[in-house]
Amino acid sequence: MDVIATLKKTREIMNKYGINAKKKFGQNFIINEEIIDRIVDVSNINHNTIVIEIGPGLGALTQKLLMKAKKVIAIEIDYTLTDILKEELKEFNNLEIINEDVLNVDLKALVNKYDKEDIVLVSNLPYYVTSDIMIKIFEADLKGVSLTVMMQKEVARRILKGENENLLTLLSKYYFDVKLGFEVSKNIFHPRPNVDSTILRYLHKQNRQLNKDQEIILTNLIKNLYTKKRKTLLNNLKDLYGEELSISLLDELNINQNERVEKLKLEDFIALVKIISQFRHQNH
Ligand code: SAM
Repeated sequence: MDVIATLKKTREIMNKYGINAKKKFGQNFIINEEIIDRIVDVSNINHNTIVIEIGPGLGALTQKLLMKAKKVIAIEIDYTLTDILKEELKEFNNLEIINEDVLNVDLKALVNKYDKEDIVLVSNLPYYVTSDIMIKIFEADLKGVSLTVMMQKEVARRILKGENENLLTLLSKYYFDVKLGFEVSKNIFHPRPNVDSTILRYLHKQNRQLNKDQEIILTNLIKNLYTKKRKTLLNNLKDLYGEELSISLLDELNINQNERVEKLKLEDFIALVKIISQFRHQNH
């Protein structure tokens, strides 16, 4: 069977089925076998591993994952591609394809089906929806599942540095230890995107600072404040907790009411959540 991750094979498949890469789905296919092998390598996959792949595309990565893993569950939004995958990868009997927008898939239920198995989630993430997919993964709280994700270099850099925090950097830092896999040039994709990419490995933090209920508050708080990030902190918090509590929350943490959400570090959010959950407890 030919390796899919070459320009020649990628073009051949696209011509055979009469398709173009769809921008609206962030389709940039990897055309470099060495990069694929490195992604599989850093993901620590063996014959006992169940892999969940988001966005298999034409199967460049899927093909190699299938050779190494026990099973690959590939979730792809574009039905023209799922039909192609079924045909091109038909020699493998360890592939399950889910034709669905990953944002509508119950990842927790999927993972629960493979209780006690070694599960790794791998994705060359579509750029247009990177943040939403990552947040979906965080919220699903997939215990024990490590992630190998490829994203834009600049986005990855912010996560690794933990500076210039935003929704994605904050939640990444809270839930995971994030490590650099390696960086790749934009030239390894067809069609070629405008920016280089980075592969990150996400490993679950052993000791998290909040309990389950508090974590729900944390995730919602960060999401809510960042969707209205132009508002002052007081106005933003007020919508969630009323004026009185919001003023005392900010006072307690010594934070100016007129600052914006970008001012808050992860530690500030954690402190806020602890006070909010204490307050809720007392008022129940
Ligand atoms: N894995 C392939 C590769 O590396 O060559 C393709 C990666 S391409 C950057 C992203 C893939 O994600 C595309 O196949 C695209 O159709 C798919 N995709 C985009 N949005 C999606 C969504 N919401 N749910 C599932 N798949 C999605």
